[in-house]
Amino acid sequence: MNTKPVNLLDYDVDALVDWFAAQGEKPFRARQVMRWLHREGCTDFGAMTNVAKSLRARLSEIACVTPPTPISDKVSSDGTRKWLLDVGSGNAVETVFIPEVRRGTLCVSSQAGCALDCAFCSTGKQGFNRNLSAAEIIGQLWLANRLLGGDADGERVVSNVVMMGMGEPLANFDNVVTALRLMLDDHAYGLSRRRVTVSTSGIVPAMDRLRDECPVALAVSLHAANDALRDRLVPINTKYPLKDLLAACNRYLDRAPRDFVTFEYVMLDGVNDSERDARDLVAIAREVSCKYNLIPFNPFPGSPFRRSPAERIRRFASILAEAGIVATTRKTRGDDVDAACGQLAGKVLDKTRRTVRLVEDTR
Ligand code: SAH
Ligand code: SF4
Repeated sequence: MNTKPVNLLDYDVDALVDWFAAQGEKPFRARQVMRWLHREGCTDFGAMTNVAKSLRARLSEIACVTPPTPISDKVSSDGTRKWLLDVGSGNAVETVFIPEVRRGTLCVSSQAGCALDCAFCSTGKQGFNRNLSAAEIIGQLWLANRLLGGDADGERVVSNVVMMGMGEPLANFDNVVTALRLMLDDHAYGLSRRRVTVSTSGIVPAMDRLRDECPVALAVSLHAANDALRDRLVPINTKYPLKDLLAACNRYLDRAPRDFVTFEYVMLDGVNDSERDARDLVAIAREVSCKYNLIPFNPFPGSPFRRSPAERIRRFASILAEAGIVATTRKTRGDDVDAACGQLAGKVLDKTRRTVRLVEDTR
């Protein structure tokens, strides 16, 4: 019988142990192979020298190591590097690496498109195409480590991962959690929970599941301080309104690796950037231990919104600061960790369409 090879990048360590057991192999073999796959980036079973020859031969027949294929690879002047990855059927997603002095952050996508349709988000405007597989999610980190190489000391350059690329990670829960487990596993990437962040628009039951199954650092896309406005900007709010969302944040904090939630807040001119809005955010910060990350809106064609003027963003941030609340503002250039992620959603649609067209044209 000719069965399709199994992509081993789809498995976290427990699943790989189970799969090896089904092949009659011991757990330590699975862990050995896991290290080859993720730590060495090895795709050739034949090269896994500490694995028995017969097993290597068998793996070559029934398994494979297949990360997504990059369609483009661009480095900006500030060192930010962006890859567009082909995920089949004309779909593409973007992965961004943002180097900084003491850390390197990889912004990872979880879905091709997104069903949640936030009013200011170009990914949402694309509609939902499909969930990425665990291999496609962890494959972004796998590829980045390969393509970036180590630094001068042979250290890995990706020190932090943020699930802030295309898609809503908690709407693709199982595959995202498999990928998160690999990020944390010492046999794979060995990142600490504090250095892995999931950003969600606020799917409350999935936030509880994440807390129970794989608590990593949490960012929540707040964007509005009252339900009437949030219903309009982040439509999932009609299902899980602010009161429920804030309660879920507090439940999450019981197990979170950090003692605060990061609230992302896109600054939309004349929509959510008044002094009253800032004071409402102060009130929210009295209920939930948090930091605010103010993101200047990244415009895209056809969007009805404008970015708040810099002076208004400064004023807004200072109201929060005067109340003793930590608020950072993302730079709009790609030279700080958060910038590229804030811009990502705004840039993907055009690029994706253009590239998909290119791909189709060359067929
Ligand atoms: N779906 C998840 C994560 C991906 S989006 C979420 O919504 O949290 C990462 C961040 O970029 C989110 O806070 C999102 O609201 C924000 N964002 C989306 N479109 C944007 C735009 N055009 N300008 C600035 N930030 C944007
Ligand atoms: Fe989806 Fe996040 Fe964009 Fe909302 S902001 S449409 S949840 S990717």
